[in-house]
Formats: sequence, structure tokens, C-alpha cells
Amino acid sequence: MTDLPLLTWGLVLAALVLGILAGHFGWGKRWTGHLSKLHPDYLTGLDYLVSEQPDRALDMFLKLMDANAETIETHFALGSLYRRRGEVERAIRIHQNILARKELAPEHREQALLALAQDYLRAGVLDRAEGLFQQVSEVPRLRASALDALRGVYERQHDWQQALGAYRQLASIKAAPTRTVAAHYLCELAALAMERGDLDSARGLLNEARGEALPFPRAALLGAQIAERDLQPALAVKFLRQALTESPTLLQEELPRLLKLVGPEERDAILSELVSQAESRGFDELKRLVFAAIAANLGAAAPLRASIEKVFSQDGTLQAVWQEGPTQSERIAREIGALLAHAEKYRCNECGFSGRNFYWHCPACHSWDSFEAYAIVKLR
Ligand SMILES: [Zn+2]
Repeated sequence: MTDLPLLTWGLVLAALVLGILAGHFGWGKRWTGHLSKLHPDYLTGLDYLVSEQPDRALDMFLKLMDANAETIETHFALGSLYRRRGEVERAIRIHQNILARKELAPEHREQALLALAQDYLRAGVLDRAEGLFQQVSEVPRLRASALDALRGVYERQHDWQQALGAYRQLASIKAAPTRTVAAHYLCELAALAMERGDLDSARGLLNEARGEALPFPRAALLGAQIAERDLQPALAVKFLRQALTESPTLLQEELPRLLKLVGPEERDAILSELVSQAESRGFDELKRLVFAAIAANLGAAAPLRASIEKVFSQDGTLQAVWQEGPTQSERIAREIGALLAHAEKYRCNECGFSGRNFYWHCPACHSWDSFEAYAIVKLR
């Protein structure tokens, strides 16, 4: 939520009121000279602002608006400010008031409908927001923003088919976001098909997802789940290795699942390959692999020993602990493993939301692909 300090908010409102006054009298006129002739409501509204009584001030401004048809843009700005502050009911009152005007130009009516839809979205009244956005999407000038907002409404409702429909309409007017978003919708639909036991449809949807975005690790992960359901462990292993190559972020979640599917020899071969992959990508990736492996109780696995020592001896945070002596490494690995098991493991890069679960779609800010594995390790 935008949280303007109270003083700033008061100043912004005062500026808007001055805008209303200026609109009323015209910038070219010496409107200050008219202050003495003002309707008392103008000054009362300002008094309410100064004494921090926003509801009373709002009543005054709504009255002013009724009396003064030229200041409509100022009221759109006021409504938008109220919404951004989370004062949605006030924003709704302003926009409904605009819509109730008798002689309202069509473009102002459309703009007010869009603003009201955004108010309802912000308030979480999704069905009303949806109806209004649909109405506004018929207006060519506002079509792209209304369809994009509708896409957001369908995402919040987990109506992936409709979200995909809105995405396709946006694509037809060249206003769609990145194609990975469509690929995620198709993966959501594939996951639903899997829940219904309809694996053929799920496979078809995953193929469509790969058609939208490649590489697309989420499709490989779901492919692995289908292969497991089909009792094809070798295929599941292939898909999981592909997913981990495409997105090392998934290591923490998927490494244990992958290793459950293979015997000890193949396990060591896979770990050695992951080590060389991580090394070729840089120290941070090696650290990520080491932490994921420790969290999966693989701290003592032979292919990882050298990597664990390297990470512990070179990482700034862990170095102090490492100086206790390399013989401590197994104990330290165990302690880190225990900490990781209880730590908040993932964080959204966009909004900072964090928790123990991984999400493709951030539950807080609704971004896609924004989750990153991280660990808060406190050793002392
Ligand atoms: Zn987020």
C-alpha cells in the first residue's frame, strides 16, 4: 500500500482543491480575488482537511463536483489517490458520483467505469470488477488495459482458461505480456487435468506450454510427474534432470525427488554432473547446490565433499565457522541442514514475500517466476 505521510496527503489534497478552485474560475482569471465570494463549502472542505477529517472533506468535494462540471479530471486524480492509499470506499464514492452525472461525455463515462473496476479489484470484489472490465474492454481506446486487468482478475480466481482467453485477446492486439505467462496458464490447466486423471490432456497442454516458451522448466517438472504416474521412472529422471539444468532454483525442492528415483550409482553420477554444471556457472550456483544437498541430508555424499569444503572455506559468512577446522565440516553441515529444514526457504524477488513453500505465482504480488530459494543461516 502506498503510505503517504499524513502531511503529504494533506498537501496533495490541498493542491487538488486548488485545482478545483482554479478549474472553477479559470487559470487566466485572478481567482484569488474571488475567494471572498466563494461558497462557504469550499472553505469548510479546506478546514476539514486541515483538521484531518477526510470523510467530511470528501463530502464537501463531492458537493463541489456536483456544482462544477469542468473539474472532472481533478476528481479522477482524487479518486485514484484514494485508491492508492487503500481508501477504496472513498474512491468508489467519487467514481460513482462521476457516473451519476446527467451530462457526462462518453469518454468520461468510460474512464469512470474503468476507474470503478480498478476500485473493486483493489477491494477484492472480483465479480463486480470482472463485469466492469468486460464492459470497458469493448471500448477500443481502453481495450488493452481492461483486458490486462481482466487477466489479473481471472488469475486471482484461478480461472486459467479465462486467463488464457484474455491473454490470447491481448496477443491479437499485440499487447500481451511475455509468452511465459501463457505457458504458466497452460501448466496450471495441465495440473488440473492431472488431478482429474486425464493424463493425455495434460500431456497435450504441456506440449502447448513448450510451444509458448522453451526452455520452460515447469513443463519438464509436470512431465516428470506424469511419467511417475505412468510408472516410467527413467523418463521421470530425464525430465527432472532437464528441469534442474534449466532452472537451478528448483534444486532445493526437486533434488530429493530426483534422487529417490535412482540407485546409489546413478545418484553419484547425477551429483557429479550437477557439481560440474554448478561450477561452470560460478560460485553462487555451487553454493546453491551445496545448500540444497545439505538440506537433503547429502552432506556426506562423496561427489559433494570437495564442493562443500570449497563453499565453506570461501564464503564470507561461513568462513569464520570453517576456521574451527575442516574436521568440523560434517557437524556444521548437519547443523546447517537442521536450520534449513526450519528456515523460510523462498522469497519473492518482486515484493519480498517469503515462506517455506515455493510458488510459481506469488500469492502476495501476483508476479510469475519471481520466487528464489534462499536461506537464512545463523550458526552462532
Ligand atoms: Zn511477490
